[in-house]
Amino acid sequence: MTELRLFNSLTRQLETFQPVHANEARVYSCGPTVYNYPHIGNMRAYVFADILGRTLSFKGYKLTHVINITDVGHLTDDADAGEDKLEKAAAANAQSIWDIARHYTEAYWADVKALNIRQPAQWTIATEFVPQMLEFAKSIADKHCYELDSGLYFDVSTVADYGRLARAQTDDGEGRIEAVEGKRNAADFAIWRKTPPGEKRQMEWDSPWGRGAPGWHLECSVMSGQVLGFPFDIHTGGIDHREIHHPNEIAQNQAFCCTNGLDLAANSGANVWMHNNFLVERSGKMSKSSGEFLRLQLLIDKGYHPLAYRMLCLQAHYRSELEYSWEGLEAALVRLKRLVLAVENLRAQTQPGVTAGTRFAPFMDRFDAAVADDLNTAVALTVLEEVASLKKVDAGEKLAAIAAMDAVLGLNLLTLTRADLRIRPVQVTITEAEIEARLAARKEARAAKDFATSDALRDELAAQGVEVMDGDSLGWEWKLG
Ligand code: AMP
Ligand code: ZN
Repeated sequence: MTELRLFNSLTRQLETFQPVHANEARVYSCGPTVYNYPHIGNMRAYVFADILGRTLSFKGYKLTHVINITDVGHLTDDADAGEDKLEKAAAANAQSIWDIARHYTEAYWADVKALNIRQPAQWTIATEFVPQMLEFAKSIADKHCYELDSGLYFDVSTVADYGRLARAQTDDGEGRIEAVEGKRNAADFAIWRKTPPGEKRQMEWDSPWGRGAPGWHLECSVMSGQVLGFPFDIHTGGIDHREIHHPNEIAQNQAFCCTNGLDLAANSGANVWMHNNFLVERSGKMSKSSGEFLRLQLLIDKGYHPLAYRMLCLQAHYRSELEYSWEGLEAALVRLKRLVLAVENLRAQTQPGVTAGTRFAPFMDRFDAAVADDLNTAVALTVLEEVASLKKVDAGEKLAAIAAMDAVLGLNLLTLTRADLRIRPVQVTITEAEIEARLAARKEARAAKDFATSDALRDELAAQGVEVMDGDSLGWEWKLG
């Protein structure tokens, strides 16, 4: 087996993975802010975290993965001056903030399931950890924080090397806007946000610094430390978190661990910090509020199986920016179809063998080397495809090799069928039975050389959104277009 090497954003280097606890891997991934549906860019972050988790399992580590749900405290503005995103959504929809959080959490979980992202050992819900957040804040308040009218702030000059992760050590770095009056350093951030006098928030708790709500960064420090214990192995998030959220978590963790300096692994909370790059639209940044809102459900409504999106993610390295296009998704779907058809044919012949057998060892080695090389799923996929196209090999052993690889890639190849991939776009009303009946009639007409009838049937189907695919190399016969 090749040793696992991962890119650590903290050192900006590839490092050999060395677990804190022998044979174990403990991973924390920053979860979604549940004031709206996640867009497919957000879901790229969880496909990446899932690939990381599956790879760690594949390499034999006992995985404990935690993903949080930010149901309180994420502001519309990183500089602590904005409104709480959830309070804002509640006001706009005139609903209880708790109902909103629940609704979008469930929508997120539905996407997680559809993308075949494995369930983490624990989903930590931020509002369920408020007492622990208060304890954490109390323990660092004297030495590292100061109080303003608006809340309790963390003084970033009290820890060594603040911002090392972001490589933005100066105050004029990106996003360092001094939006709150009275802060000692522009990069100082809220640990606790007091409810302004005369106002009442739907989510607020008592604290030594008055009634209010925890800061977003505090939540992740507390949930990761509580559940996984400091130091744990790997902390993940999107690349945007490398700039503010994670440097702030690290500063809090340093303060909490009572150790200044980052030379000891324990000081930053996690040994390895990993970040996925963004999924972008040609027009720029992906957004939940402007343009076409690219939710996973939109892809499904247009007739794409959600795992085609997973395939699209796997085709790129997680550290590369990925540009989203419908053509790209279509190509990913075709690639997935090929694999599904190949595996379906094998499954019709046999059951997966117990092991892949020596014939497949060189392929398994190459697959292992690819994922061990900072999760190079693009290369791993091509190895899987090579195996799927091998001729004159034992079908059971071949299926076993595919199963072992798919346990890492998570394309669900051992259960997905061609019928599953035929998702009907929402605007299509014709039933599958009607399609099949017309296709059968068309076949008869063609056999009788009645091309007028055959063409008429084809046009009739086309009018209802069904494209007949004569001579399709994948044997697909028809698709909903
Ligand atoms: P949020 O719900 O905004 O806190 O984001 C959830 C996760 O998605 C975080 O890890 C973000 O860093 C990540 N993220 C946000 N936008 C994108 C994007 N366009 N592509 C990939 N990841 C993203
Ligand atoms: Zn976080």
